[in-house]
Formats: sequence, structure tokens, C-alpha cells
Amino acid sequence: MTTNDGSIRATGRCLCGSVRYSVRGPLRSTVTACHCRSCRRFTGGLWTGTVARQEHVVIEESGSLKWYQSSAHAKRAFCSNCGSSLFWQGLEEPLFSIAAGSLDEPTGLKLACHGWTSEAADYWDFSPDVPLRSGPSGLGPPEAG
Ligand SMILES: [Zn+2]
Ligand SMILES: [Zn+2]
Repeated sequence: MTTNDGSIRATGRCLCGSVRYSVRGPLRSTVTACHCRSCRRFTGGLWTGTVARQEHVVIEESGSLKWYQSSAHAKRAFCSNCGSSLFWQGLEEPLFSIAAGSLDEPTGLKLACHGWTSEAADYWDFSPDVPLRSGPSGLGPPEAG
């Protein structure tokens, strides 16, 4: 699953397609879901990411790619046209995280853990009782009254 010869391990893009990238090196085989407040605000949901070395991530089309420094320790990249969350980069550590949801399938990756559950949204529920539906939720509009 990993390559060191510059060949493409993975490709990905934002929702509108104006940002496209490839990973030309090893990609961590696992995905983590981050429930921290910053990731929640940034994505509107969860950050699900894997990791590559920065020098192996090639921005093939930079389109509307924008970087936002979200803290003293990290910056985040998104598409300013469609809003897709794309990358997280540590400013002090050589970590470059890629939004797993932006990768083209099949990714060959596996969800390995949930992080920062201490900051999970109050609506979040890790219970296995939450229904899994293969189509729309079917829950409709706000409840009356
Ligand atoms: Zn876009
Ligand atoms: Zn986070």
C-alpha cells in the first residue's frame, strides 16, 4: 500500500473539484476521527484524517485552496469556493493530515480510533443503538412545539 518511488499512492479533491492533490509516498493506513472543538468548527462535523509526509502531498490544482492558521500550533486548509475541509498541518511537528473524506475511493484505509472524545459535541452519541440507515435519515423537519 505504500510507495517511495514517487508513484501515486492516493488522489483526492474538494467537493467542487477546483483543488486536487495526490499523495506520492506512504499514507498512514489508519483514519482517526477527531472530536475536538476546533475540528468540529472547521468541518461542521468531525475531522476524519490520515497522515502523510508533507513533501509527498502534491497539490495538482490549487484552485481555491486557502490556509487558515487555527491556533499557534496548526493551520488548516480548505477550498474557499465549496468549503471542503482538506488539510491540517502542525506548525511545530512534521505532521500533515489529510481529510479522509476528500480522498478518492477506494482508500484502503481503516478507521482506527476516535480522539478528543472529551470535547465531543453534546449531541454526539457513541452508542451502538444509534440507527444506521443506508439512505436518508427520514427524520424530516423540526418537531412541532
Ligand atoms: Zn472546492
Ligand atoms: Zn481536532
